[in-house]
Amino acid sequence: INPNNVEIIISAVKPEQYPDTGLQEIALAGRSNVGKSSFINTMINRKSMARISSKPGKTQTLNFFNIDEQLVFVDVPGYGYAKVSKSERERWGKMIETYLTTRENLAVVIQLVDIRHEPTQDDVLMYDFLKHYDIPVIIIATKEDKIPKGKVQKHLKVVRQTLEMDSGDTLISYSSLSKDKNTLIWQAIEKYL
Ligand code: GDP
Repeated sequence: INPNNVEIIISAVKPEQYPDTGLQEIALAGRSNVGKSSFINTMINRKSMARISSKPGKTQTLNFFNIDEQLVFVDVPGYGYAKVSKSERERWGKMIETYLTTRENLAVVIQLVDIRHEPTQDDVLMYDFLKHYDIPVIIIATKEDKIPKGKVQKHLKVVRQTLEMDSGDTLISYSSLSKDKNTLIWQAIEKYL
């Protein structure tokens, strides 16, 4: 995969709008502000392909990115943003649920959590949802650079325990300030393709 060859395909809110590429999809999910846009941009060597959100919770569409005609990243709008109305939240929930439970192209979900904090209730709900529907998941713990190196393992343990992660599920700490782990993460993704 050449992660430099990327184009936005489409923004969609309903199945009729999902792109018809025939390619496998990797969906990215996480709380608003967790570093999802930064993660996508670092993985594909772009400064601002996935918009780094100044207004969290604003992007309410599924954004599909074609990666080198090999696979598709699907940026799922962030959850857990307080200033979103109940009806918006419900619309969001239905959109995500429909995509995650019906999309045949979906290969794996990358769920991002903030390594600094215990996963939130929303994080736990999302993980449980994926498990319930037997959707493969990779957990990425973001903003690794914000904690001392010596504490990374301890924080990863808290993530594993709070999510009650399956022992077989992959958990990787990450910092979007560095590309060091990109190869490792591409390899983790390829296991599901
Ligand atoms: P999103 O809402 O999940 O898409 O989050 P963004 O990618 O917009 O990031 C939210 C904020 O966290 C921004 O100010 C980013 O610069 C910052 N951020 C994201 N990832 C990292 C990281 O790995 N390290 C550090 N230090 N800051 C990060």
